[in-house]
Amino acid sequence: MLGLRSLRAKLLALSVGISLILGLILGVTWLYFQVDTAITEADFHNTSILNSITGIMIDEYKEEDATDLYVSTHVGRAYFPDKTLIFAEITTPDGRVVSSKDPKRVGKRAKHIQEIRDVVRAKKPKTEFLILSRAGDVFSGTTVVDQISPFNTRPIAQEFTAPIIIDGKVRLVLHMYYSMDRLLVVLNRLEYIASLIILNTTLFGAVISFFLLDRIVYRPIMRLEKVAEEIASGEVSRRVEIVGYDEFSELGNRFNEMADSLVHARFEADTDSLTGLYNYRHMQGYLESQINLAGRYQREVTIAMFDIDHFKNVNDLYGHQAGDTVLALAAEYVLSELREVDYMARYGGEEFVVILPETSAREAIQVMERIREGFPKNVYVECMGVRNPVYISIGIADFPLCAQDATNLLAASDTAMLLAKRKGRNQISYFRTIDKKAG
Ligand code: GH3
Ligand code: MG
Ligand code: MG
Repeated sequence: MLGLRSLRAKLLALSVGISLILGLILGVTWLYFQVDTAITEADFHNTSILNSITGIMIDEYKEEDATDLYVSTHVGRAYFPDKTLIFAEITTPDGRVVSSKDPKRVGKRAKHIQEIRDVVRAKKPKTEFLILSRAGDVFSGTTVVDQISPFNTRPIAQEFTAPIIIDGKVRLVLHMYYSMDRLLVVLNRLEYIASLIILNTTLFGAVISFFLLDRIVYRPIMRLEKVAEEIASGEVSRRVEIVGYDEFSELGNRFNEMADSLVHARFEADTDSLTGLYNYRHMQGYLESQINLAGRYQREVTIAMFDIDHFKNVNDLYGHQAGDTVLALAAEYVLSELREVDYMARYGGEEFVVILPETSAREAIQVMERIREGFPKNVYVECMGVRNPVYISIGIADFPLCAQDATNLLAASDTAMLLAKRKGRNQISYFRTIDKKAG
């Protein structure tokens, strides 16, 4: 029983394990594609802003009297307040700041690209610069990533450097650092959704797969176990109900066949093959159980032992086969005269035992007297058209008056039967009558 309970625990663990793996595959695959899309979208967004700024600057140069200062101040005013810009500066090719997100830096020398990176790094510690192969004729770009571990590289900013070229000459250089904070918010949300996907898949998957495994594996085994238990406890007619055509139904069929063989073997072990009656072995157990019951509920059990008179003559005169026929006829006749609750066994040779539960010796004597009288009419040896009748001598003993256990009760009925023989055969004798006489 303990082993089966642990089987259920194993099935549960298996369900959780499989569902967790399924959840991880689903969640991570989903996250991979979603993150890819989100980064591409963010990339596209920042690149198109840069494209439009550079486009506007080039357009403004087409206006009359457009100076570097005019163009850069104009663009700076329009775009630099944008909160997604961490840092932005427009410089002349020789490195003088014309417009900056930090107005104090106008007129100063442009910082070297490395110094600008330091400015960003100061805002976002633990920052690495990862050069993306975003190259072009017009501008070059880099993505700044926050690299804490090889598994956790997340973009935090995008760096762009774009030279503004008018008539083949570099007039201004635009440096911009776009924050990727919005992307990070999106990524966090995606990760949250992915963990929900993993959690839900694991939960629902585990419930569903456990339910299925329970039905497909555990219950058929339990059905077998229950029937095995019932058969072991004596309900030998119980069989496994066969459902479907899988290996379990095959096992159920084999199990039923095994139970049939067991029952058959047990039947053979308990039965006398000539008469079909129970044998001595079975009778012993049955008598003991009847005496136990009778003792517990203060009831009577009466037994009658009978022996065929001069049976040796039957064998000697008519042959062994005729003797066998007489034994079979005797069993058939006596059994037909008994009640449903009565019990009959072949004690051995031409001796039989009848057990009459909840019956007094007086009642048993009446029943057995009727049987004795009818015996020669029903049990005979037929030879050359003549029916040669057969007689029996019967000994009766009852519990609890004559004996208190099976062995002594059998001995008492045997003694009574021998007395009937001695008194001339073809009659009934009761053990207590002998007792009284003896007393
Ligand atoms: P009594 O009236 O004193 O009982 O005499 P009896 O001849 O019946 O008793 P005895 O014990 O001398 O003989 C019993 C005979 O029953 C001996 C044995 O060969 C025969 N017998 C026992 N079992 C079988 C059997 O299965 N078939 C046949 N045909 N005979 C059997
Ligand atoms: Mg005999
Ligand atoms: Mg005998």
